[in-house]
Amino acid sequence: MLSLYHSSPYPFKVLLASIHGYHLRWWRYSRDTEQFILEAHEREHWTSEQWKNWREERLAYMLHYAATQGPYYRDVWQKTRRNNPSLSWNYLENWPLLEKDTVRNNPRLFVSDTSRYKPLFVDHTSGTTGKPTLIYQGRDTVIKWYAILDARLRRWYNLVYSQKWGMFGGQKIVSFNQKSPPYWVRNYGLNQLYFSVFHITQQSAKDYVAALKEFCPSYLVVYPSILGTLSHHILEQGLNPPEISAVFCNSEKVLDTHRNFMHAAFNCPIVDTYGMAEMTSAASECQFGVMHEWPEVGFLELYNQQANSFVHSQDQLGEFVMTGLINEDMPLIRYINGDIGFLPDTSYKCACGRLLPKFGKIQGRANDLIQTQDGRRLYILDSLFNGVPIVEAQLIQEKIDEIRIILVRDISYTEKDSQHISNRLYAYLGDVKITFDFVDKVPREKNGKFRPFVSHLSY
Ligand SMILES: [Zn+2]
Repeated sequence: MLSLYHSSPYPFKVLLASIHGYHLRWWRYSRDTEQFILEAHEREHWTSEQWKNWREERLAYMLHYAATQGPYYRDVWQKTRRNNPSLSWNYLENWPLLEKDTVRNNPRLFVSDTSRYKPLFVDHTSGTTGKPTLIYQGRDTVIKWYAILDARLRRWYNLVYSQKWGMFGGQKIVSFNQKSPPYWVRNYGLNQLYFSVFHITQQSAKDYVAALKEFCPSYLVVYPSILGTLSHHILEQGLNPPEISAVFCNSEKVLDTHRNFMHAAFNCPIVDTYGMAEMTSAASECQFGVMHEWPEVGFLELYNQQANSFVHSQDQLGEFVMTGLINEDMPLIRYINGDIGFLPDTSYKCACGRLLPKFGKIQGRANDLIQTQDGRRLYILDSLFNGVPIVEAQLIQEKIDEIRIILVRDISYTEKDSQHISNRLYAYLGDVKITFDFVDKVPREKNGKFRPFVSHLSY
């Protein structure tokens, strides 16, 4: 299907993208959507007491459901109860931590019995650690999720999902060899123009701006590093993009430099978001620049690995431990996604008037960009290791034309896979020297954080 897509003329690409778009639209929205959006807005004014009651009840339901409905946890509790028959799964503190690897290696074991035989949507986490995790969701879950998303992203900025929008995401919608526009594909199903993030250069910036002007999207959903780079070209060349109501950033930490470039180029709110794939924790920025937690999505705890204990103080750093409250089809309890940050502030009074907690700052989620010899800066970590049997990998840019890959191989990894990764890198970067270091574990940062990409270039 993919090779058919890439070898097709533009109108056929539009047709395929639009069919996919209508399919996604069916998954995401239903006649209940408006009602769910209203309810999500009502909850924004709940007191912390109301949230506490609601979440305790929901958590109790999810814990019981997870312990009895899915093969992985059923097994965990059978073993636990053999040693300690009186231990109850009704209390979160009795549950073990769940490493991302465990879910990545066997995602189907987390799918609940009642959901196993219904159609499930499969989402991939953005795979910033070089290892995508599959998340299964039934349509009811997807619809509830997208209603909250619509309420807390678009509606906060007076936008709706049916309006025209532009997407700058990681999908390879245009062949890497293509040297002339269109570097985008129209998707009628989602009323979207999807832009390739791999073709933005100083030369092509004007083509992107022309396409934006012609399409006139109301808002953009972007990798901030990518739109930041395009914004930089726009400013340098004095180009005039059309008026945009808001830019929603996802998948990466928003760096100040990129935010400033985007703001200067588009002169509209640049909105940060958190946690868009796993449905275990989420937050988004209001018009006052405050990240608000979405409390109905997940229950967040913080863990300190070194002290081997949970963190309860708001000014202490810890690893995110998340329990999903929304996805019954694949319950994840005490899931560690590798992010490091602080607990939400439930007493914060925001000028926007909403009573949603202020989300704790994330310390480690910076995805660096790889630099190419012709001056582009790319975000390629999502796709570089896709489908290759690796456990984890770190990409190091030693020099502009020298790449080192520190890699932990999965059992079925062969020499062919190294060649596969090299070929992808050549396609992105041209003629570069590539070396592989096979190791047992990729060294971590001082703060315990995995860094998927390291650059030794000075900018
Ligand atoms: Zn606010």
